[in-house]
Amino acid sequence: MGEAVHQEAKELLKQNGLRVTNMRIDVMNVFLQHSDTALSNQEIESKIPKSDRVTLYRTLKTFEKSGVIHQAIDGSGSNKYALCHSNCSSHEHLDNHAHFHCTSCEKTICLDEIETPQVALPVGFNAEERYLVIKGTCETCA
Ligand SMILES: [Zn+2]
Ligand SMILES: [Zn+2]
Ligand SMILES: [Zn+2]
Repeated sequence: MGEAVHQEAKELLKQNGLRVTNMRIDVMNVFLQHSDTALSNQEIESKIPKSDRVTLYRTLKTFEKSGVIHQAIDGSGSNKYALCHSNCSSHEHLDNHAHFHCTSCEKTICLDEIETPQVALPVGFNAEERYLVIKGTCETCA
């Protein structure tokens, strides 16, 4: 692990008002190294040697609440998270973008430039959350 990456992770934690712990640095490093890809708990766990599952779960929840990572719904049924690129905060997430799930390499990628479209709902329906998932093959697998 390079010292520069380590330092960047520390800075990001501080910027988001989070106490710096080894686990948080490790998790932040994983997201920084996969900055446009959504990762499942298992994938994150496999990249952190000797990680404790409960601590990892709590760290992910804290990061999500603090506006550091967002949930990426990709229809796979497993919980995935990706680094926030919008100016998300502990007040709200602004990651209003589509996620692409590659059926070949199984990666889920944030498409930051594609906004989730507004849809006109029938009278009496109120939207709380909207997701746009596109499945297919990514540029690497094409
Ligand atoms: Zn966010
Ligand atoms: Zn792919
Ligand atoms: Zn995303």
